[in-house]
Amino acid sequence: MYRIALIEGDGIGPEISRSVTDVLGALKEPKLSIERFDAGDRALKEHGTALPPETIRGVEESDACLKAPVGESAADVIVALRRRLDLYANVRPAKSHPGMPAIRDDIDLLIARENTEDLYTGNEFFIDGAAVALRTITERASERIARYALKAAMTRRRKVTCVHKANVMRVTDGLFASTCRRVAAEYPDVEFGEMYVDACAMNLIRRPEWFDVIVTTNLFGDILSDESSQAAGGLGMAPAGNIGDKFAIFEPVHGAAFDIAGKNEANPSSFLLSAAMMLGWLGGRNDDATCLVAATRLNAAVYGAVKEGIKTKDMGGSAGTDKFTAEIISRL
Ligand code: ATP
Ligand code: MG
Repeated sequence: MYRIALIEGDGIGPEISRSVTDVLGALKEPKLSIERFDAGDRALKEHGTALPPETIRGVEESDACLKAPVGESAADVIVALRRRLDLYANVRPAKSHPGMPAIRDDIDLLIARENTEDLYTGNEFFIDGAAVALRTITERASERIARYALKAAMTRRRKVTCVHKANVMRVTDGLFASTCRRVAAEYPDVEFGEMYVDACAMNLIRRPEWFDVIVTTNLFGDILSDESSQAAGGLGMAPAGNIGDKFAIFEPVHGAAFDIAGKNEANPSSFLLSAAMMLGWLGGRNDDATCLVAATRLNAAVYGAVKEGIKTKDMGGSAGTDKFTAEIISRL
């Protein structure tokens, strides 16, 4: 029995959370005990904080966390949890499947984005009339994400592309690139290469099928992973994991989508695929084949439905969240 902490979030969060709990229940194995915890805009209104202490405790006591999107207070929730739980790898696979509106049918890449530093630490201030942001890159954080990427590549096509802009940011990206290079030398079976971020942005459109694992810093990874998820078929099909050495949180790449909240239009696939990622992570971590089988079954059910044209509105179909969910359950 695994304890899963579920944060239902805001906007379409509760709808896609219902879809995920129904589908996980239909899997039967592994046995999951799903507990709900408040976080986000609604929590801020009700408890006066976007991330109540009971939620932090609940998440810390669980085996893994599923987090639906949060509205305005998103940064207060996920950034705080990432820091507290040291979830240093933001992992976003992008894979095209039949029936998905992808720009190529053979995209299969994974972005491993450093999740704790760079320009996203909030170190910004005014000095002498100039707005300044501090960019921090450490060898420790670069080494951890590099190792994560190289290990991931060993289970894939064994190719890692380190993306940076060290020709301009010689000190910070220079350290990131040289650290990745040093770690890569320990993995002779992996083909290691480097690419400037502007060239990478272009190549994700020009020949996305060329990439296997991309390792990059926080800000570049944020931007490139939105691009790669769109290239592979859109936000509605894009899962993500915030992964550390001891814990992980899985969430859809998209936001709270307030424009379609409560309309039974939300595509639950990103969150369902995030749940599949979670099962894969639990399986690897606990050496539990039941979880790995469940992850495969769940992925197959989602991609199988899409392949046969059962799609929500964002994918050009007409199925509501409820009908799409029922279809997935019938396939399980
Ligand atoms: P945030 O600031 O929270 O990231 P955002 O403005 O970037 O929000 P998203 O919530 O990510 O926007 O949504 C962008 C667009 O994609 C919206 O028009 C939304 O309706 C649509 N969208 C996002 N997620 C889904 C989904 N799961 N199903 C259907 N449409 C979606
Ligand atoms: Mg967004």
